[in-house]
Order: sequence, then structure tokens, then C-alpha cells
Amino acid sequence: TAQAVAAAPEDPLFGLMKAYREDPAENKVDLGIGAYRDDNAKPWILPVVKKADNAIHNDPTLNHEYLSIGGLPEFTAAAQKLIVGSDSPAIREKRICSLQTISGTGAVHLGGLFLSKFHPNKPSLYLSSPTWANHHQIFTNVGLTLGNYPYFSKETKGLDFDGMLQAIQGAPAGSVILLHACAHNPTGVDPTQEQWKQIATVMRQKNHFPFFDCAYQGFASGDLARDAWAIQYFVEQRFELCVAQSFAKNFGLYGERTGAFHFVSAPGADASNASAHIASQLAILQRSEISNPPAYGARIASRVLNDPALFKEWEADLRTMSGRIQEMRKGLRLRLEKRGTPGSWAHITDQIGMFSFTGLSEGQVKVLRDKWHVYMTKNGRISMAGLNSHNLDYFAEAVDSVVRE
Ligand code: PMP
Repeated sequence: TAQAVAAAPEDPLFGLMKAYREDPAENKVDLGIGAYRDDNAKPWILPVVKKADNAIHNDPTLNHEYLSIGGLPEFTAAAQKLIVGSDSPAIREKRICSLQTISGTGAVHLGGLFLSKFHPNKPSLYLSSPTWANHHQIFTNVGLTLGNYPYFSKETKGLDFDGMLQAIQGAPAGSVILLHACAHNPTGVDPTQEQWKQIATVMRQKNHFPFFDCAYQGFASGDLARDAWAIQYFVEQRFELCVAQSFAKNFGLYGERTGAFHFVSAPGADASNASAHIASQLAILQRSEISNPPAYGARIASRVLNDPALFKEWEADLRTMSGRIQEMRKGLRLRLEKRGTPGSWAHITDQIGMFSFTGLSEGQVKVLRDKWHVYMTKNGRISMAGLNSHNLDYFAEAVDSVVRE
């Protein structure tokens, strides 16, 4: 009955967005948003996406029929090459299977559901502390037991590498370790390639299963291969693993829910057979949950990924987005250092991707909101995309003021 269901708490991020919208102040700044904004704080349709979109509208062969359960084949094939590399042993040895999903969230969910149903020992899944808040509820919903590994060092505002490695080493053998492939959300802190190698070594020793969440490929550094380096390294090291891939940020296709889930089977004589079995089980799970994925975003991404000229234009668009964000990082750090704002601000430019973990306290975040009309999550995370040449001075002034208070 209705009385038996208590009201759920509001999603903190959506609550923040609502408060921002309702604030009448003209100089308000939205640093909560997890979406790219241009220098005028407006959503940006990638020019290459617009092109592909026009072509789709004028394509008389398209209709509104269902896609197959696994999605648009030319999309999943291209997505697969993008994430593991077109010359990947996983593709050569036919031991990777891929399904189109409801963006990254759907891919994380499908992966969690699959592990929960089919992993022989119901392993625990370890999340970085902190991580994207939705990870907790997605994996809890599918019945996985969760653990944590340290990730962010409050002292250095960088990676707590020793803590991370020790926790991964200490997890029961055969655990699932969720790793952010690049541009870690919410901290903006990534392991170096050398550190990834050490993580792989420990994970190999403990027979852990890597579950990569990749929501920012190309958006982080502007270089698609570089942002997928960790995944490709683990595949080369012949791990069995899975990847949740989102095209929300790198194509600006947020609301079109475009993504893919990939499962790479361990190498061996029977690997391609095993991979076909896994694909068939994933298809049954997908069928019961969404029946088949949405077509529109996948058609756009597929056009771009499969056309060398459009692909080049996409890479330029990625550099536009990541370049602007890097400029904002430099601009913010420079302004704070010029003002002599107490503390060290190097982490602003050391961190990468959409978000920066500023180190501002919950109290400071509250003052920023109440007095300065600056909106960010209470853990001190700012979306770099919310900064632009018009509000950078104002934001630096606001931070300087609250830090000195
Ligand atoms: N994982 C991480 C770490 C994310 O930051 C995001 C985007 N906020 C996602 C997954 C999934 O987003 P989407 O479902 O919009 O692709």
C-alpha cells in the first residue's frame, strides 16, 4: 500500500540543479552540472554530430523499426574498436562481445547484473572511495556486495596510490575491482601509466576481475587512444575483463542514451566459444530489461565512428572541449595563485577531465552557495565545464574569500 512506502531522499545532484534554477541572482554560477558547456555557459552540439544528424534526417533508408537486442551492429563493432584498439588481440581472437546499452549507466548495470547472475562465487565488487555516487546503488540493486579501496589523498589532493594498492592486494582473491578508465569522477585524479602497470600486477597476482567504467574517452585528454590506455594495457596483459562505455560526454549525446557494454574473455583455445555463450546470456538479460536499445544516438555515433573524414572532425571537436576545460584549469589556478589564496592550487591543473576536487570543505561550499550563488556538490567537486571566461574572475574571487574566512 502507499503507506508502506516511505519517500525516498532527493537525488543530491538533481536537487542542486533545481536550487540553481530557482536562484534569481544574475551572477549565479552552476558548477554542479555533469555536462559540457561552451564559453557562454550553453550546451554545445558538436558540429560533427550536427552533420551526422542531418545526414540521418535525409536518409530515406532509415525508419523507426526496432534495433536487434544487441543494438546496431555497425555501432557496436566501431565502439569495440575504439575502446580496445582496432588491432586488439581480443578482436583478433574473437573473444570480445559487445552490446549496445542505455548509455554508460545501462552498461554499468548490465555488467553488474551479469556478474551477479553468472559469476560462480558471487564476488565482492570494490569501488574507489570516493566514486560516482550512482555506482553504489546500481551494484547494490543487482545484489552485489560492495567493498571500497582508498583513492583520494586529502593531503596531496592526488592519488592515494599506496592505500589503493594495499586494499586491492588485501581484497579476497577473485574480487571484482571497478576502475575508472580515465578522468575519475568525482576527483579528476588518474593513476599514471606506471601506476596502472603496478595495479595490473597486483590484480593478476590476486586473480581479480577488472570492471572498467569509461565515461570520458577523448574528453579527458583530447586523445582517444591515450584515454583508453589502461583498458588496452589490461587487454594486452590478457586479463578477462569488462568495460562500460558511455558516449554521453565525448559525443555530447547525453539524453540520447548511447553506450556499449563489452566483455573480454580470457585467452585460450575455447575463448571464442565462451565469448559467444556470454553474448547469448547478455542478450537474454538485455531482452528482459530493455528489450532493445534506442536507435537515434547509436546511428549518429556510428556514422561518425565509421567514416574516416567525420572521425577526424570528431577528434577536432574533442580537442575543442578538452582544450577549453584545460584552459579553465590553468585560468583558475593562475588567478588563485595571483591572489595568494591560502593553500596550494597545483591540483587544479594536475587533475583531468570534467571535474576537479577542489579540497573546499562542506562549510565553504555552503558559503559559496548562500553568499556567492555558486553551486557545487558539498564534497567540493566542481564541474570545470561550468567555468568560462565570463565567470572565472568572479569564481576565483569567491573562492579566495571563503578560504580566508
Ligand atoms: N560512469 C561515470 C564514472 C560517470 O561519470 C558517468 C556520467 N556521469 C557515467 C558512468 C554514465 O553516464 P551516462 O549514463 O550518462 O552515460
